[in-house]
Amino acid sequence: MIRFPSRRAVLRHGLAALLLAAVPLAQAAAAPLKVVASFSILGDMVRQIGGADVSVDTLVGPDGDAHTYEPTTADARKLAQAQLLVVNGLQFEAWLPRLVRASGFKGRTVTASDGVTPRRFDEAQEAGHGHHHGHDGGGDHDGHGGDAHAQGGHDHGGHDEHDGGLDPHAWQNLANGVIYARNIAEALAQADPAHAETYRSRGLAYAARLQALDGKVRAAFSAIPAERRRVVTSHDAFGYFGEAYGVQFLPVAGMSTEAEPSASELAALVAQVRREGVPAVFVENIQSPKLVEQVARETGAKVGGTLYSDALAQPGQPADNYVGMFEWNLRQLTEALRP
Ligand code: ZN
Repeated sequence: MIRFPSRRAVLRHGLAALLLAAVPLAQAAAAPLKVVASFSILGDMVRQIGGADVSVDTLVGPDGDAHTYEPTTADARKLAQAQLLVVNGLQFEAWLPRLVRASGFKGRTVTASDGVTPRRFDEAQEAGHGHHHGHDGGGDHDGHGGDAHAQGGHDHGGHDEHDGGLDPHAWQNLANGVIYARNIAEALAQADPAHAETYRSRGLAYAARLQALDGKVRAAFSAIPAERRRVVTSHDAFGYFGEAYGVQFLPVAGMSTEAEPSASELAALVAQVRREGVPAVFVENIQSPKLVEQVARETGAKVGGTLYSDALAQPGQPADNYVGMFEWNLRQLTEALRP
């Protein structure tokens, strides 16, 4: 026989049932750690290492440009609830400190690039504006002594606010990716000690994948003659890549996507591409292809395709994760540069 319980009984038993069903201790401990990553590449790394033990929100999403990003109130809400914030550092996310203050974020912050050897902006600045010199062993340094210039009071014309700054694009070297993975795994372990060992072992496995890919990338480029290993890209995002894998990148714009080249800088680049027979130019997923295509038209260099520089591809595409992004870029570059 069915009896309808009293209202008070419903409240009492209902509440007890609710407590038992919704938040028994084991389940409360299993609630995923709330993590916010500043941009898509970090978001993927956190997912790879955190697995089902974390829920990840990314501020600057796929194909997004973190250099020029303008945070939203939705970002502030995500941060307010987060327990861990993962940032690149190296002066990449200039808009982030204000957002963090405004959001009332109370969690921990980890800088994924901690421990990376940074490239100085002023070395790269020269490479970005008509004084192209690679750090690639390609040997073509235009007579510039990079180190001497890096320390000197060199005039960077209009970019003095960046003097002494750092090249943020450290993820473009897989050896740095390994450092990122280690920092992220350790930060997850500290923020969520119940799963510390899982994070650490997933971090190690992921780092091993990155290390294996690093070897594959090195082998692929060393099979291409050094004088062919030169490409034009939109902005100066591949300095770490170039150093690590022996490829000279000639960026149309500077370190940030904000800086547009002057007409004379563009003309100097076109002249250099012609003079040195640079085989290919690449557009980037985060930027307009306009200037790069102009360089291709004026020089006869072929357009090699799209490189993923500062953001992953949309979900479902090969470059929608960090490993996939590297494999994609590797394939695009080697196919265009192979003699
Ligand atoms: Zn960039």
